[in-house]
Amino acid sequence: MGSAQTRHILNLSGGKDSTALAVLMRDKVPGMEYVFCDTGVELSETYEYLDRIESFLGKPIVRLNSGKPFEYWLEVYSGFLPNPRSRWCTKVMKIFPFERYVGDDPVYSYIGIRADEDREGYISSKSNITPVYPLKEAGIDKKGVHDLLNKSGLGLPKYYEWRSRSGCYFCFFQQRNEWVGLLENHPDLFYRAKAFEKVDPLKGQQFTWVQRGSLIQIEREKDRIKQRAADRDSRQRKKATLYEQFEDFSQINSEDSGSEEACMICHL
Ligand code: SF4
Repeated sequence: MGSAQTRHILNLSGGKDSTALAVLMRDKVPGMEYVFCDTGVELSETYEYLDRIESFLGKPIVRLNSGKPFEYWLEVYSGFLPNPRSRWCTKVMKIFPFERYVGDDPVYSYIGIRADEDREGYISSKSNITPVYPLKEAGIDKKGVHDLLNKSGLGLPKYYEWRSRSGCYFCFFQQRNEWVGLLENHPDLFYRAKAFEKVDPLKGQQFTWVQRGSLIQIEREKDRIKQRAADRDSRQRKKATLYEQFEDFSQINSEDSGSEEACMICHL
């Protein structure tokens, strides 16, 4: 028996970089398999964007999932909400379904890391999965990603109007003003996320999505949070105008300027 042929798989997150990668690769690798690891708790804007990507690609995006809802996994993890130090959500809802789908076949896994980023993204521990970085290799930076998306007609997913990254509606990598964006754009989801938070006054334990805070606090302080974000944007825009005269504006575009780290598989 001959060895299995190498498969080419591109994992879409519903974000701009992996989408730009799909646009770039569409005519280069006709046999590409496009997949999306659906946690079941994604934003409606993400599903809408995936439908549009599917039309652009002219082939279906395979939807993968863990077979269980988030609530099931939360119980498995004893009610501990995932957080940047314990990212069990990524493991059980994204990585395992992807690795199950790949199986033991040799695979090139296409990863949407840009040339202007200093991270590797998700590296599988499975030796049959080889990561490849076409955006990085082609020197495509943030501006290049926007160009690809504009030229393709796909543009950006609608959630970028109030949030800077793809992923679960309750993702703990969100910045405070993005939580306010969730409250204003999807109040039902904000309150669903809030219902997961638990405070145990007896033990002094707190299980919340926000570090050093809670969604109760975010809701209470939403006007102040919005004002601070608007002031910061205005400062960054002024800085950008100054830079534009001397430098490449794309280097200081504020879109990804949050100090919080992005998820290695979810936010591409
Ligand atoms: S998007 Fe955020 S919450 Fe969802 S799996 Fe990724 S890290 Fe976890």
